Amino acid sequence: METTRIARTAMLPYGKQAIDEDDIQAVVDVLRSDFITQGPAIDRFERKVADYVGARYAVAFCNGTAALHAACFAAGVGPGDEVITTPITFLASSNCALYMGARPVFADIKLDTYNIDPDRLASAITAKTKAIIPVDFTGQPVEIDRITKIAQDHGLVVIQDAAHSLGATYSGRKVGQYADMTMFSFHPVKHVTSGEGGVIVTDNEHYYKQLQLFRSHGMTRDAALMQQNDGPWYYEMIELGYNFRMTDMQAALGASQMDKLDRFVQRRRAIAARYTEAFSSMEGLIVPYQHPNAESSWHLYILRWDEQQFIEGRNRAFQELRDRLIGVHVHYIPIYKQPYYRSLGYANVDCPNAEEYYNTALTLPLYPSMTDQDVEDVIDSVKEVAFTMKEM
Ligand SMILES: *Cc1c(COP(=O)(O)O)cnc(C)c1O
Repeated sequence: METTRIARTAMLPYGKQAIDEDDIQAVVDVLRSDFITQGPAIDRFERKVADYVGARYAVAFCNGTAALHAACFAAGVGPGDEVITTPITFLASSNCALYMGARPVFADIKLDTYNIDPDRLASAITAKTKAIIPVDFTGQPVEIDRITKIAQDHGLVVIQDAAHSLGATYSGRKVGQYADMTMFSFHPVKHVTSGEGGVIVTDNEHYYKQLQLFRSHGMTRDAALMQQNDGPWYYEMIELGYNFRMTDMQAALGASQMDKLDRFVQRRRAIAARYTEAFSSMEGLIVPYQHPNAESSWHLYILRWDEQQFIEGRNRAFQELRDRLIGVHVHYIPIYKQPYYRSLGYANVDCPNAEEYYNTALTLPLYPSMTDQDVEDVIDSVKEVAFTMKEM
């Protein structure tokens, strides 16, 4: 095989937003209106997300991390509690437990789906466990039926971190219908964006009200919740909340983008299928396994490099692909390896699958506005790199 380098002129990123003129117009319309925060665009956006996933309520936040923080508050997570999650996720999935004074506990992943192993999760439960935060890593839903069963048996709250899986289904039903609360992120690398943004969906009215309180200083004007009422100006602070509100500009962008979600997911699935078709017969490259009940919305495409087959493995592949302007990435460093977590006593966490995964995983570019030529450039570059690394 000849080793002609692909003549790209700019780095192909691993993820990127797609903003059209109608998205821009939606934001401009808000700027010309009476409300630029907590106005009607928030309600419209929340309704759109709730209706799309088939949930009763949605509450919008300034970002997904704040939304997870609020979900932990609504679940009653506090000091002395434990919250079980996966180590292969973004920091926010476990930091939200720390914010509430609780202790995150990491249960190892499965080496096929890279999602939390329900058996490991079950054996991590103690008398202190209060909640579970399973993460639909890469967009592939976790085995949520097994996880909610375990949670019911132990009286635990399930907060599904679906930052990667908006639009995905499990057993034919949309993610957002299974857990007590489900979080979606609207960061620009996610499926659709509001700039920054996060949403919790739930069917539970109590959680819904707690989420709204937490978003805005713990303030209420609801007579049923107040101790007294001095007049029309009056409000009471009944919980310690934050200012985690989303602006109407963000909500208008998010609502406009929601109309494109199905098209974006379709394109992501097509690109992922093309990658898998190209790489599945190549020895030493491990393509993503899909659980039969899960239909991923493909936030990330992970290609693993067998260390036995490729000298210098993933690290070499990363550099070779970056040299060819293919913006590969690594998702994620197991959270317990972070210095801050080690300082909290997580130095000896036993997650061998997470370790093996981390040492071999490489994220390929994947976003809806990639052209077919971009996709073929990635495939040609990966093949070229894999070929030269075997020759070494
Ligand atoms: C993006 C993301 C979040 C939330 O992130 P924000 O940037 O705060 O919206 C949480 N969990 C995972 C797994 C994520 O990828």
